[in-house]
Amino acid sequence: QAKALGRGRHEDYNPVLQQMVRERRHLAADLRRAVDAGELFLVYQPIVHLASQRVHKAEVLLRWKHPQRGLISPAEFIPVAEETGLILPIGQWVLEQSVRDLAVLRAALGDTFQVSVNKSPRQFLNDARLAVPREKAALGELAGSSLCVEITESMLMEASPAVKDKFMQLRDMGVQVSLDDFGTGYSSLAYLKMFDIDYIKIDRSFVKNLAPGSSDQVLCEAMIVMAHRLGVKVIAEGVEEAQQLAVLAEAGCDYIQGFHFCPPVVLAELVDWVRRHHGVSGPVAGPAPAP
Ligand code: C2E
Ligand code: MG
Ligand code: MG
Ligand code: MG
Repeated sequence: QAKALGRGRHEDYNPVLQQMVRERRHLAADLRRAVDAGELFLVYQPIVHLASQRVHKAEVLLRWKHPQRGLISPAEFIPVAEETGLILPIGQWVLEQSVRDLAVLRAALGDTFQVSVNKSPRQFLNDARLAVPREKAALGELAGSSLCVEITESMLMEASPAVKDKFMQLRDMGVQVSLDDFGTGYSSLAYLKMFDIDYIKIDRSFVKNLAPGSSDQVLCEAMIVMAHRLGVKVIAEGVEEAQQLAVLAEAGCDYIQGFHFCPPVVLAELVDWVRRHHGVSGPVAGPAPAP
């Protein structure tokens, strides 16, 4: 005990730690202004349907262009947003902006296009307490099926009535649900049984070293077979190489997302990329060029 106390006191005066705490506080203060200052923006990564080679789905990924520090990764600022509760207004903005962008995507690429939005545990749990989901208001006239929500198993862990209720409300609206980072948690399998999930996203850690004959190949195959037997579709994330793609295709994976096809890009670039990928020529949606 004395030792722990001593260590704690030592840390209080540790200049490196103090610096980290200060930076985190700064970051939280900056983030508070970032939404109104227009520093947050969205990028989109296409999710390719393997059998048809078509793209009708993209993941929405948040970016922060800090005036001094430049681009800050969501891996760094999402945890700060979670701790401070800022994730709620930020998440609301992400949802509303992606629905606005979805109108552009559907006009340019067809009205079955779907956006897939990430939700962190605190967002999901908070929303679960609302009678009317935020999604409903944001979607307006658009069909629920034009939205997919990506969640991780950590928020299903408590499986409280409120969480189950939220799940049912989303399902009733036709909103789809993906289980993100699949296979990395303690009990991913249990949640497949407990919740009516549309997609699992095989985590990048299984894809990274994916090669014929590897244990990752066995694991990916098993996840895909199991998901399919349960009526769940499979998306592999972080696919960078042709070999990874080949192994996943052989295993019957439904969708591929990764740098091999396309990195996350801004909206106009997504439209452009999908058109090129589909082999359809024509200008990117936007104002006509000046004569
Ligand atoms: P995630 O949902 O698992 O997103 C996939 C991450 O993998 C993204 O990182 C994406 O840029 C990256 N990625 C995609 N393809 C490849 C690839 O081929 N190779 C490699 N090395 N990486 C690839 P990103 O954009 O930095 O986002 C990190 C995490 O931050 C996300 O992980 C998600 O958990 C969270 N996040 C991002 N946007 C939002 C948001 O709007 N709301 C919430 N709550 N979380 C978000
Ligand atoms: Mg995701
Ligand atoms: Mg993921
Ligand atoms: Mg992941």
